Formats: sequence, C-alpha cells, structure tokens
Amino acid sequence: MILGVTGGIASGKSLVVDIFRSLGAAVVSADQLARRIVQRGSPVLEKIVERFGVEALHADGSLHRKFLAERIFNDDGARADLNRITHPAIAELAAREFAELTRRGARLIVYEAPLLFEAGVDRQVDAVLVVTVPPEVQLARLMARDGISCEAARQRIAAQLPQPEKMARADYLVDNSGTPEETRRQVAALMEQMGFGPSPSRRDGAERSAPD
Ligand code: ADP
Repeated sequence: MILGVTGGIASGKSLVVDIFRSLGAAVVSADQLARRIVQRGSPVLEKIVERFGVEALHADGSLHRKFLAERIFNDDGARADLNRITHPAIAELAAREFAELTRRGARLIVYEAPLLFEAGVDRQVDAVLVVTVPPEVQLARLMARDGISCEAARQRIAAQLPQPEKMARADYLVDNSGTPEETRRQVAALMEQMGFGPSPSRRDGAERSAPD
C-alpha cells in the first residue's frame, strides 16, 4: 500500500513520516526526488534552461535555486511552467521508487509530498493522510523553525491550499497539535487500523520472551 502524507508547511509532516519509518514503513520523499531530477545534465534541467534562460544555472552547470525561486515568486505563469516541467518527472521517478520498494518486499510505502494535491499526486497513491494543526500553532512552529517574522510565515501559509480543503480530501487525519508522543500514538493506531500493526515475528518474539 502506498500512503501519501501531506499537510501545510510546518504542520509536522517530517515528524509523522519519521514515526512511520520508526514503525517499519518504507519512506519516499518528494522533496528528495525533486532534487534528483534536476541534477547537472538532466533532461529536466535542460527544459528549465530552455524556459528560464542560462541564468537558471550556476557557472558549474548546477541549478540556481535562488534565481528560480525569485523568478517564480509572484509570477503564477512562471510557477505553472516550472511545475509542468518538473511534476511529471517527479511522478515518474516516484513510480519507479514505489515499484522497486515493492519488489524488495515493502508492504507499506509512505510518500511524503508537501504538494500532493496541488501536483495531482493523490492519484498516484492508494490513500492520503493529512497532518493537521490549528492555524496559530502552525504559525508559531513555522516562525520558530525557520526563524522568520509573523508576516513572512503568514505569506508562506497563504500560498498553499487551505488546510480545510486538504482535510476534506483526506482518507486519514493526524492531529499534530499535541506532544510528539501523542502524535506517535495516533500514527501507531492508524498503522494497526490499516493492517500494518506490529509484525508477526515481533509478536512471536514477545511471546517467546514472556515468562511461562
Ligand atoms: P513539516 O515537515 O510539515 O514542514 P515539521 O515536521 O518540520 O513540519 O514541523 C515543524 C516544526 O514544528 C519543527 O520545528 C518541529 O520540530 C516542530 N514540531 C512538529 N511537531 C511538533 C509537536 N507535536 N510538538 C512540538 N513541536 C513540533
């Protein structure tokens, strides 16, 4: 089963995905795939240069992320073009990763994708989990994590699909407003519910080590 994990910025996706990993799930990160597809000399990088010019590259031929980020900031057309170039390549690489992990015996694959709905990746997964936090908690955690002002944090949050829309499209919700331990308990309960509870071998082990 492939479970997409998404949620707003600083909602706690990394925390939730780390918990899944610690409970035995295989993890694929869309952000990591996005970095891989734009490696030097890649076809995606060529298309970026065709669209945005050689300024999109550093002198060594690697992607000039800052230039590109500034170029698409406040330019929806440019952003849409960049997404049209990158999203299909990410989707293709994700599909290959899923197939490889499945071949190697992974039963639960967690796909961490911040733009899961925006990129239409919800169609590529079997179910979607949305990590939720109340707006004031999200704002405070984002400011603390990235060391940014309230205004800058609000801007980043406003640039995303609103949380209620994500929640409405979710198969599962994890409320990350409490302690990390409370979140861990929710994730463990969900895994159990999805049929990925403690593995039989671990249960056997527990029985064997129990006193007669
Ligand atoms: P995302 O991956 O969704 O952007 P993170 O997992 O990085 O979000 O969490 C955002 C910030 O909030 C991080 O600094 C993280 O340490 C903190 N954080 C996440 N969950 C909790 C929690 N349950 N309690 C306290 N702090 C948290």
